[in-house]
Amino acid sequence: MFCKHCGKNIDPKAAVCVTCGAPTGCGERFCANCGCPLQPGAAICMSCGVATKTVVPGAKSKMAAGLLGIFLGAFGVHNFYLGYIGKAVTQLCLSAGSILLTIITCGVAGVITPFIILGASIWGLIEGIMILCGNINTDGNGNPLGE
Ligand SMILES: [Zn+2]
Ligand SMILES: [Zn+2]
Repeated sequence: MFCKHCGKNIDPKAAVCVTCGAPTGCGERFCANCGCPLQPGAAICMSCGVATKTVVPGAKSKMAAGLLGIFLGAFGVHNFYLGYIGKAVTQLCLSAGSILLTIITCGVAGVITPFIILGASIWGLIEGIMILCGNINTDGNGNPLGE
């Protein structure tokens, strides 16, 4: 592989480049696969076609989180997935709590339950769209989201 910072050939097992001292995998100026200079901001290498952006291992999927928010957002599923536990629990309590309340009160609370669930659904829907649009682009630990 090649240093992404200076383009010199380096040992794949090396943690840092012996030429420039940059950690391997860091830098955006050269292709790690073929060592060719990259266009600034290029997503793939024009010489060998390899993706230049290193995907962070364990990165949460933006697509999955967005879709979870849109379809199951009322129950906070997307926030559980991303690790925003506080928000997730709040959404789950709103929806599940109101359903529970309806059961306990033998349906009396059912008058307001649909509105609470609707509100939580809209909240989840908006967050799902924000995730897909990149307005929310980190998980609960501050790690960037993957595709
Ligand atoms: Zn280097
Ligand atoms: Zn290349």
